[in-house]
Amino acid sequence: MSVCAVATCKNNKKNSNFIFHRFPHELSIRNKWISLCKRGDRLAKTLYMCSQHFVDSDYTRDLENELLNMEPRKKRFLKGDAVPSQHLPLQKIRSNDEAKVGRKIRYTRKENQEIVNNVLKSMQTMALFFYPFLTNKNYAK
Ligand SMILES: [Zn+2]
Repeated sequence: MSVCAVATCKNNKKNSNFIFHRFPHELSIRNKWISLCKRGDRLAKTLYMCSQHFVDSDYTRDLENELLNMEPRKKRFLKGDAVPSQHLPLQKIRSNDEAKVGRKIRYTRKENQEIVNNVLKSMQTMALFFYPFLTNKNYAK
C-alpha cells in the first residue's frame, strides 16, 4: 500500500484522496526529498509522498485541460525538480530504537533519584531517633 514517507504524515491511499508520488530517480532531488521526510528509521524500498506536501507550481501545467477550460485532471505530474515544501516536520523524528534508549536513560535517572531519596529518608529517621539524646541535658552530663 502507498504510504506517505514524511515522518509526521499519516496519509495513505486508503485514508486520503491525495495523490501519491513516487520519489524521483534523480539522486540529488531524491536525497532532498528523503532529508525533508525527517525519518529517523529505515526507509522502505519504494517511497511515496502524498500531494499534501506540494504546491500547485510544483506540477506541470495541464495544458490540454486548461485549453478546454476543464478542471485539472486528478492525475497530475510533478515537475522534475519539484521539492516538497508543505506540512513537513521541522525536526527529525526519532526512530523507535532511539526512543527506547531515551527511555532507558530517563529510567536510570529515576532509579538514582529514588536511591538518593531513600538515603535522605533514612538519615532523617536517624536524626529523629538521636535528636532527643542530643538535646537532653541530663544525658549530656
Ligand atoms: Zn504526506
